[in-house]
Amino acid sequence: MNSGYSLSPIATISTPFKQKFAIPRQPNLANAKGQITFTDTYGDPQAFKGLENYSHLWLLFIFHETADRGWKPAVKAPRLGGNATLGVYASRSTHRPNGIGMSVVRNLGLSESDGRLQLSVGGVDLLDGTPIVDIKPYIRYADSIDSATDNLDRYAPIPCRPVHFCTKAREQLTPVMEKHPDAAELIESVLAQDPRPAYRQSNENDDKIYKVKLYDVDVSWQVQDGQIKVLSVL
Ligand code: SAM
Repeated sequence: MNSGYSLSPIATISTPFKQKFAIPRQPNLANAKGQITFTDTYGDPQAFKGLENYSHLWLLFIFHETADRGWKPAVKAPRLGGNATLGVYASRSTHRPNGIGMSVVRNLGLSESDGRLQLSVGGVDLLDGTPIVDIKPYIRYADSIDSATDNLDRYAPIPCRPVHFCTKAREQLTPVMEKHPDAAELIESVLAQDPRPAYRQSNENDDKIYKVKLYDVDVSWQVQDGQIKVLSVL
């Protein structure tokens, strides 16, 4: 048996998510865009021939931010409220034997930037700077299984709270939108999922003020009367 294989990143992705907190649990839960920039070796234009045939792609990547913590056979499952555990192979936890993540994302096409090919993708759940180790087309006939079941679904509805921008935050958003036209939609879709730790998510009036960084913008918010109130966008 081979004692090991090594992986080299083919690219790095830039995303609006500057910290792990508030990144959606899975892809396509927020319309977050990513730009993938390839290394010289793996950015050979021949490697992209035919990619335009696919609306969606699989990204295989390294959970680089947590890789040094190694893996755990039993992991806490946010889907079960945060305390109960699942086997790592029955979870999509980041604490995996080889720290490999996989996400289906929208293919938004290739462009060139500073002489390098760049691939734009939509619906990402990856931290900014995540190393990508491979890309494959999402193939509907094989990857989409209508009869698939997930018995945990009933424990784990993705929260969907109304998001309200207070007057000050709405004013602050105007200049931000000039730089990042999708900022309002991104903030709304990320916060609607109530990124608080699982044990706090049932609290409909939470005095704690939370902060999340999206792009270069610090967003402060609170949960009041079951709604997400955006307090400032700076
Ligand atoms: N869709 C992927 C999968 O199933 O392999 C990721 C699922 S994992 C539950 C999603 C979480 O991974 C995000 O909410 C974020 O906190 C975390 N994450 C994203 N990029 C990461 C990175 N580069 N290093 C460590 N954690 C990361």
